[in-house]
Amino acid sequence: VRKIGVLTSGGDAPGMNAAIRSVVRAGLYYGFRVYGIRKGYEGLINGDVEELNARSVGDILHKGGTILQTARSPRFTTEEGQKKAVSMANVFDLDAVVVIGGDGSHRGARDLSRHGVNVIGIPGTIDNDIGSTDYTIGFDTALNTVQDALDKIRDTAYSHERCSILEVMGRHAGYIALNVGISGGAEAVILPEIAGSLDIDKDVIKPIIEARNRGKKHYIVIVAEGAEGKAIEIERAVTEKTGLEARATILGHIQRGGSPTVHDRVTASVMGVKAVEVLMNGGKNRVIAIKNGKLVDIDIDEALEMKKSLDEEMIKICKILSL
Ligand code: ATP
Repeated sequence: VRKIGVLTSGGDAPGMNAAIRSVVRAGLYYGFRVYGIRKGYEGLINGDVEELNARSVGDILHKGGTILQTARSPRFTTEEGQKKAVSMANVFDLDAVVVIGGDGSHRGARDLSRHGVNVIGIPGTIDNDIGSTDYTIGFDTALNTVQDALDKIRDTAYSHERCSILEVMGRHAGYIALNVGISGGAEAVILPEIAGSLDIDKDVIKPIIEARNRGKKHYIVIVAEGAEGKAIEIERAVTEKTGLEARATILGHIQRGGSPTVHDRVTASVMGVKAVEVLMNGGKNRVIAIKNGKLVDIDIDEALEMKKSLDEEMIKICKILSL
């Protein structure tokens, strides 16, 4: 019987459990034995491995986080660490390792593949910043969490006629910021993709003053964590230059938790089955992705060369609607 390992790595994302469940159940369905590797690459190095059955993944579909836990493993980025990980994959006789995680985790999977371990990547990160796929598991849930927080902040901003500055996650990418900028009706959105050009007067102060002159009673500014301006700096600038009360809120890890949305559960389930089917069909070193609405698998080396960028049209729409 062929054996598959499954691990989650990097930042946790809602829907990772749904993906684990899917890999385990599809694996069993197709006659594999499936092993859970705890704490990402760190667990692989340490041999923290346990066989999973259909019941081990019962009652987790709706839970945030990851039952396998996750880790950032500096050891795994070294040649020595990777060799240990490979030898452990051999100890457990794993034919393949399914890696659920973000861009860094996919790079780690590629390194494993270069050492002879067959890997399949499943994109899981709230940041949606993996070049090879239009969508990553966890993104939709994070958007809804941020939107929920923003709606609450908007209530109090309106009551006090304040300017609220909300710093959202996304690492070096502005997918969360831009989408919530549109869904939450922000006056200004500060994106990392428009680097080197932040002009607080033009990009933040002017839209707020114009909005005030048009009779608005509250003002929302979304700042991506990877952007040039920090929420606290913008808070200070708005207070000094407009006389409005400004309040910065850094949402932080609330954005990573919570029960996954239907979209994330379905995407994770579909990707998990696809990962196992790719293995069934003899696939080697592939990543699962969504491209133009279609579920596909791509060679991992090619996938890691792929780039994507924020949709210019969405940036324009965000500006038009902030009037
Ligand atoms: P997220 O962006 O959601 O936090 P991620 O998967 O990008 O997820 P990282 O911390 O970048 O998170 O990566 C997770 C782990 O993958 C790292 O701790 C490291 O062990 C491994 N890894 C990251 N980058 C590389 C790389 N370039 N080469 C080899 N391994 C890597």
